[in-house]
Amino acid sequence: MDNCIFCKIAAGEIPSSTVYEDQDFRVILDLNQGMKGHMLILPKEHYANVFEIPDPALGKAMILAKRLARAAKVGFEKAGEPLDGVNILQNNGEAAGQTVMHYHLHVLPRIKGDDSFPVWQEKSVSAEEMTKICENIKGGLEA
Ligand code: 5GP
Ligand code: ZN
Repeated sequence: MDNCIFCKIAAGEIPSSTVYEDQDFRVILDLNQGMKGHMLILPKEHYANVFEIPDPALGKAMILAKRLARAAKVGFEKAGEPLDGVNILQNNGEAAGQTVMHYHLHVLPRIKGDDSFPVWQEKSVSAEEMTKICENIKGGLEA
């Protein structure tokens, strides 16, 4: 993709703080270090989102996320700055908060009490509504 910033970063055409690279992925620090060690796992191939990325690449990305989460846990611990948790997350589409339309996984080191994570509104619905929601999703599974 000619105009994709993450394609250019993944290819090394734009410099980045790279923590890991192999033939399929580059892992960089997010420009926004609201959480120290916030990383982005970028496939070198362009896929817009989770719907486009093939399953084998998706699986590799998640395995890599586990590896990097562990590296952050061990590395910060060694540096005397232990982590309390890690989020691994991924946004698809503008409504879901995706701002760069090149598939990427966020690895987010967490410290107890930090306030940097988006939260959703808690809202309970009726048992009937729960059943209907289940049915809608199950219908999609079969499609
Ligand atoms: P999204 O909101 O699409 O899930 O995440 C995009 C992320 O990419 C944001 O957290 C943003 O800070 C980060 N980002 C956007 N442009 C750049 C860039 O040029 N370099 C780096 N390292 N991060 C970027
Ligand atoms: Zn791209």
